[in-house]
Amino acid sequence: MKYTGEALGRDLENVRKYYGSGKTKEASWRESQLKGLHNFLVEKEEEILRALKHDLGKHYVEAFRDEVGTLMKTLNLASKSLKNWMAGKEAKLPRIALLSSAEIVPEPLGLVLIISSWNFPFGLSLEPLIGAIAAGNSVVLKPSELSPTCSSLLATFLPTYLDNNAIKVIQGGPEVGELLLQQRWDKIFFTGSARVGRIVMSAAAVHLTPVTLELGGKCPAIIDSLSSSWDKEVAVKRILVAKFGACGGQACIAIDYVLVEKSFSSTLVTLMKEWIKKLFGENPKVSNTIARIVNKNHFMRLKNLLTEPRVKESVVYGGSMDENDLFIEPTILLDPPLDSAIMAEEIFGPVLPIITVEKIEESVEFISSRPKALAIYAFTKNQTLQRRLVSETSSGSLVFNDAILQYVADTLPFGGVGECGFGKYHGKFSFDAFSHHKAVARRSYLTDFWFRFPPWTLNKLQLLEVSYNLDYLGILLVLLGLKKSKRSLFQACN
Ligand code: NAD
Repeated sequence: MKYTGEALGRDLENVRKYYGSGKTKEASWRESQLKGLHNFLVEKEEEILRALKHDLGKHYVEAFRDEVGTLMKTLNLASKSLKNWMAGKEAKLPRIALLSSAEIVPEPLGLVLIISSWNFPFGLSLEPLIGAIAAGNSVVLKPSELSPTCSSLLATFLPTYLDNNAIKVIQGGPEVGELLLQQRWDKIFFTGSARVGRIVMSAAAVHLTPVTLELGGKCPAIIDSLSSSWDKEVAVKRILVAKFGACGGQACIAIDYVLVEKSFSSTLVTLMKEWIKKLFGENPKVSNTIARIVNKNHFMRLKNLLTEPRVKESVVYGGSMDENDLFIEPTILLDPPLDSAIMAEEIFGPVLPIITVEKIEESVEFISSRPKALAIYAFTKNQTLQRRLVSETSSGSLVFNDAILQYVADTLPFGGVGECGFGKYHGKFSFDAFSHHKAVARRSYLTDFWFRFPPWTLNKLQLLEVSYNLDYLGILLVLLGLKKSKRSLFQACN
């Protein structure tokens, strides 16, 4: 549907009114919407997989692994946990608050906007939507215009599975995004680039709207010279799949580049060459095991990065491209110049630079001197190196001996720090991202702290002092006149 600002404003007014009726707060409504999403995934699975193949060339199995499967997992968890998440949680009060009780009650934020990216068009749209619904909000979802078959599938079918009074899908590109950002929201959840993230944040500032920004960046992987051949093989397979096997490297938590000791680099390259063929086939273009580049613009961006003369010289594997098929062969670079564009910007494609260091410990300094990453991966059994990475680097996530897998762990918060965004979601964190945690306290009329009321005396000050320290013996001593305050200034004023 093509929107004008006025028509959009009217529609949103109706959604707000509906939210105001309290319907979306009911547990039964939330359950029915989660069930609706579940049915959508089950009944439209084939169309979803086809759309992902059409827009991004994702293999069906990869698409199930990364989108439909993970979403089913999240939906199961949300449905099973909903009552528990919605329930207020008792907050312990100190004993001095006699005859009082307190709890933390989650409440929905209201009308929320979700803007998502094209590389996981279902995952990145529906994963936050599950959290928003579970938390009882009404939602407008704007998927990306760059995966149009997927966006249109969401816009066509979601209204037939979900309550269209509270949940809307609006298609469009930057101009529709800007129109949406002019409206007042109770939360904006954005997945995309830092450039647009800045636009989102300044629009949100007008209404002091809280935002979650899920952005990108360069995610490094360190590979230590692992001693056993089994460990080396497992590490190489995991690295290759985390680079080439998730939307062809067009993933925010894909490995961007690898750091390795110089003495291990040629063994690593040999292993990678062998395993690229085993995993993706002798001819990955024909075997269709690698997703395509999303469009011509991104293809040209990657081509320009790769064809910079100094970078081209560093190609040790792959490098072939087919513009008509938007295909780039899995490509390995050995020591491209650190000041080249490919080492400065997020690659977001199937090109893997390997950067050598004299000693693997130098990689800690290499990483910590660059902008904070969404994820850091380290394939090492060296406990000292692991400890140093935990304490000396900062990133959204830090994974030892695997990559990307953190995305499916519901118990881990998924989100960035620094330039790669802020806020977190997945599992219960998604529910929290779309909730306000209200402090609710209840007091009795029977007890009170007389010393919190004026007129002020030194004795009241002494009682406040010991009370805030939860010094129960001190309270008794002050009451009995056996403890005096050392506050000379107050005594002077008194
Ligand atoms: P993008 O910022 O270009 O677009 C993201 C969304 O914003 C799209 O829906 C787009 O239509 C919309 N948009 C674009 N211009 C807008 C404007 N002026 N006003 C309002 N909305 C606007 O990003 P992209 O190309 O879709 O995604 C690539 C980037 O996203 C990469 O940097 C990647 O790392 C990051 N990303 C992050 C995550 C994560 O979970 N952290 C996941 C996927 C992608």
